[in-house]
Amino acid sequence: MTYQPNSPEARDIAYHLHGYTNARRHDEVGPLVIDHGEGIHVVDIHGNRYIEAMAGLWSVALGFSEKRLVDAATKQLSKLPFYHSFTHKSHGTIIDLAEKLVTIAPVPMSKVFFTNSGSEANDTAMKLIWYRSNALGQPQKKKIISRLRGYHGVTIASASLTGLPNNHRSFDLPIAGVLHTGSPHYWKEHRPDESEEDFATRLASELDQLIQAEGPDTIAAFIGEPVMGAGGVVVPPRTYWQKVQAVLKKYDILLIADEVICGFGRTGKMFGSETYGIEPDMMTLSKQLSSSYLPISALMINDRVFQPIADESNKIGTLGHGFTAGGHPVPAAVALETIKIIEERGLVAHAAEVGARLQTGLRRLTDHPLVGEVRGVGLIAAIELVADAAKRSALDPVGKLGTLVNGILQKNGVISRNMGDALAFCPPLIITAAEVDDLLARIARSLDEARAEIGA
Ligand code: PMP
Repeated sequence: MTYQPNSPEARDIAYHLHGYTNARRHDEVGPLVIDHGEGIHVVDIHGNRYIEAMAGLWSVALGFSEKRLVDAATKQLSKLPFYHSFTHKSHGTIIDLAEKLVTIAPVPMSKVFFTNSGSEANDTAMKLIWYRSNALGQPQKKKIISRLRGYHGVTIASASLTGLPNNHRSFDLPIAGVLHTGSPHYWKEHRPDESEEDFATRLASELDQLIQAEGPDTIAAFIGEPVMGAGGVVVPPRTYWQKVQAVLKKYDILLIADEVICGFGRTGKMFGSETYGIEPDMMTLSKQLSSSYLPISALMINDRVFQPIADESNKIGTLGHGFTAGGHPVPAAVALETIKIIEERGLVAHAAEVGARLQTGLRRLTDHPLVGEVRGVGLIAAIELVADAAKRSALDPVGKLGTLVNGILQKNGVISRNMGDALAFCPPLIITAAEVDDLLARIARSLDEARAEIGA
């Protein structure tokens, strides 16, 4: 693309290094420069309007123009623009938020530690698990099991937990002590004639074998997203979590639920853990926690985790961990207001209701020649694109079809995201039934256009 000198696009190309972007091709592809937001829509600098069908990065629960969040931030900025949580300091907003999170947690939780991104929350989980094992006199119990296709962030530890090649290759990751077990992606990974139930049983058995092979007393924790997001929206088989938890219990292995995407209504319940009967010892939260208006994340821990950590910090003198902006009052005020709005407007039940409409509508597309599978729960879904539905084969190379359909959707006023050939949808929780229908119509039209383009 060529742009006017000094245009926002030209300056973006000149000065801005983007994450999750091909840095060499950026000047060719060019940036989509967003100017402002209105409800579930964003508008670019040329006036084109898009349904933000990914809620930004699975995160803008309340849409792009919630005045109450702006007011909450402004009020907090005027009153106390910064304070911290080190050396026994605190402030009212973070106390309110910690209490609120413990109150709404799906299982008994003891304490909340505040961080600024999902990656930091997971990184902190890993460090506190190591700290706890040392406190318990089990220095060998340090390994953490995560899953292939899982996504837990990009810091050195959390990127190691992430089970995607892109996050490891050329970064010299993963670090030692992180193990990956299979992902519950039935459509991609089941064996011929294997039922979903048998597939879940096999995954649990493979997990058990991995633990046995490594030595059960060396494994400290297992981490997983209730529904995998960035790995392609992987909805687990119905009994998967129950079977995995039985294995973890057998070996006294802690369970971390990464609720960074699933938390706050995404799956049609307040937490993904509720949707799947997960009973975590630790939970990481971010994204919809503040509707992403400001960065904030949190790690919740139960008493089994907290008590040894408290003992160890007492022995050493202080818990040597904490971020300058962890527990920052302004994002905390926005988070409190976000949760309040979600509760007041019944947005969790709403997500279940409009989510069902989205899921049904997308499943009607299963007959389309480019659709291999539709999966999802609540307001998170993916279409697995195939060049040949009968053969389940992708267009060569993998991701070409996903990129093509994603581009056509953008032209048709929808921002979605393709992870390879899995096309994800994760709209704001405030989406209405009429807006779901509008989105579905645009998706159907885009698939037809893609089909015509490939045919041509
Ligand atoms: N966990 C999950 C499940 C996520 O989806 C993400 C972000 N997509 C993260 C962790 C990392 O969060 P952040 O990008 O804020 O570091």
